[in-house]
Amino acid sequence: MNREGQPGHIDHIKQTNTGAVYRLIDLYGPISRIELSKVSNLAPASITKIVRELYDAHLVKETEFNDVASRGRPAVGVELDTHAWHYLTARIHNGYLTLALRDLSNLIIVEEQIDLPIDHSSPWLDRIIYQIESFFTRHQNRLERLTAIAITLPGIIDATKGIVHKMPFYNEENVPLGPRLRQRTGLPVFVQQDVCAWTMSEALYGASQGCQNVIQIVIDDVVGASVISAGRVLHIDSSSRIEIGHTQVDPQGKPCYCGNHGCLETIASTGSILERVSQQLSLYPESLMNYRPVTIENLCDAANKGDVLARKIIDHVGTNVGKIVAVMVNIFNPEKILIGSPLNAAASILYPTIEKCIHQQSLPQYSSHIHIVPTKFMNKGTIPGAALVKMALYNGSLLVKLLQG
Ligand SMILES: [Zn+2]
Repeated sequence: MNREGQPGHIDHIKQTNTGAVYRLIDLYGPISRIELSKVSNLAPASITKIVRELYDAHLVKETEFNDVASRGRPAVGVELDTHAWHYLTARIHNGYLTLALRDLSNLIIVEEQIDLPIDHSSPWLDRIIYQIESFFTRHQNRLERLTAIAITLPGIIDATKGIVHKMPFYNEENVPLGPRLRQRTGLPVFVQQDVCAWTMSEALYGASQGCQNVIQIVIDDVVGASVISAGRVLHIDSSSRIEIGHTQVDPQGKPCYCGNHGCLETIASTGSILERVSQQLSLYPESLMNYRPVTIENLCDAANKGDVLARKIIDHVGTNVGKIVAVMVNIFNPEKILIGSPLNAAASILYPTIEKCIHQQSLPQYSSHIHIVPTKFMNKGTIPGAALVKMALYNGSLLVKLLQG
């Protein structure tokens, strides 16, 4: 059942050990080889060999540092060499493509947001490949050796094969995004559903650092969830995902792009929320929302000022999201729930509604200790793509490719 429980193939062991050593150098560097041997439980000879390979590939460098153990005398340690390698992170969203070239410390070398219109005569995949190749050509003089391309996007995606099965916004099906880009560039390509990648970035750099069991809920122009269970992001290497956005909450509800109707996304996505506000304005003539543009920002502001309509709308979202989250709490027993949403601007209204559902509808032993917190990052930018590359370095899969040259 557990793949990790099976006897390891020698290449797999090498990959895992190299990734583990790289991660420890990232966490503790500069660190001496002896100390590295202690924290990794690997023999000094193995450490010497792995560090040598990483050094030859310009992934680590030697540095002098003051080691407490050497009583003030400078010791020679290793730390990551992050400048010699670059990677490309891309985010595809509603009408645009964000491309960012980063070095291995995640520093952005150059970032651009490019229009990717929904309606266009050229095939979607051709346009993306064209934009990525043009980006590389434009910034050729700033490019170091390239390690990988990491792309995050919403939709139903087979992350293992890099296939985009279905997307919101774009009318595309079964697009071989990963394989085609790999073929064109010769680089490893990671394609991941954006909520899943975002959860990885929160675990590595954000609000769930150090947590073992986390549920992350996204309420944005799409509605989704991702789960960390026993320290691992679920479904990270499969085509499955946690589909709360396409769970039916209203059997009489609106049709959804997934083919069903009354999905949570048709109630709680920002587009649906704003539509509901517009529909109800005439029923609440005293609402502040009658005197300002109907935006999420204005809605949150009105709710914070006590506006009845705005509060009712946010409560409606919280109740429907809360219903699903309560079930998830009973399945995953998380220590923390993260909410990634522009509605976080009205957290004092949204969170108590969700908490109330959890406390009423889940097992008391599970729900009593839970707290809801906002995500550190918002659903924009390419930091989730950066997390995909970091994970592939930490698990050794990308490192082994870089060592092979
Ligand atoms: Zn749906």
